[in-house]
Amino acid sequence: MTVVINMRDGLDERGIRIAARFILGGRLVAFPTETVYGLGADALNENAVRRIFEAKGRPADNPLIVHIAEFDDLKKLAEEVPREAKLLAERFWPGPLTMVLPKRGEVPYVTTGGLDTVAVRMPAHPIALALIKASTPIAAPSANISGKPSPTLAEHVIDDFYGRIECIIDGGETKIGVESTVIDLSSERPTLLRPGGLPLEEIEKVIGEVEIHPAVRGKLVDVARSPGMKYRHYSPSAQVIVVEGKRENVKGKIAELVEVYRSKGLRVGVMATEEYEADEFFHLGKTEEEVARNLFRALRELDKRGVDVIIAEGIEERGLGFAVMNRLRKAAGYRIVWA
Ligand code: AMP
Ligand code: MG
Repeated sequence: MTVVINMRDGLDERGIRIAARFILGGRLVAFPTETVYGLGADALNENAVRRIFEAKGRPADNPLIVHIAEFDDLKKLAEEVPREAKLLAERFWPGPLTMVLPKRGEVPYVTTGGLDTVAVRMPAHPIALALIKASTPIAAPSANISGKPSPTLAEHVIDDFYGRIECIIDGGETKIGVESTVIDLSSERPTLLRPGGLPLEEIEKVIGEVEIHPAVRGKLVDVARSPGMKYRHYSPSAQVIVVEGKRENVKGKIAELVEVYRSKGLRVGVMATEEYEADEFFHLGKTEEEVARNLFRALRELDKRGVDVIIAEGIEERGLGFAVMNRLRKAAGYRIVWA
């Protein structure tokens, strides 16, 4: 049975107490953050964390992010907190930044996917913060079946997990819409492991140049440092194709591809920042922020409308565009058409 707690109109203390009791009892609670919905369990309870992997169908070597509500919690999880971590936390927490640090013995290997490092973040969402404060640090990956687009509405979580987890807190639509930026501070040089809701440019203003892990741009490779990067991700049932290139060429290319696929008898959906003729169309908005917010919703919704192919317009890779393009290319399994 799944309890759905409505907090669309704001934080409700009684609801938080109910959800916190589930967490402390080793159960699973899906909750909103400013990035996407998380599927949470007590980060220090091995059996509870194991249930996250089972519910999602997530490979055991794909580590989870531990969510905290105050800076002092970090010292309970990380063996060392380097200067860069303190600077970044001061500037960006609570917010969409995850830092990877050497873990303390108390953090179970189930949570870290077998690694000696732990990924930690403080979410900027009143419901998430209240839930953590009322319980304990919460391990939470995105609340989607492994491989599917991340959830930005409680409806998405209900679609994937109703009847399979104990509790879902409905906090309405998430503000940022893509997951947190993940940065590794456990080795000599700060390294970006995943672009996300906090633009890399902002991080570099605080700690200087950051290395970009090759897997961020590359194909599905076997990586020791962040095993999560090797899995296919964010994919709806429909085949996604990304069209990238000069703006003036992209428009014609998308229109051409729509015709090519339709002539094969396929139902074609388009997601883009301007209008297109297709069987189904989802407007992503104009700014990078709007596109990030609408991205996963567009993938899920076009899928629901039963299209066979989704043609997605690429955007520029600066700011939130870096995270958007990283997710889109993965969703497409790197099927990219250059215009
Ligand atoms: P998700 O919570 O589904 O957005 O996935 C969390 C992601 O954070 C994983 O896929 C990893 O890429 C990254 N991550 C979490 N923990 C670690 C860690 N200890 N070392 C490196 N990357 C990590
Ligand atoms: Mg995920």
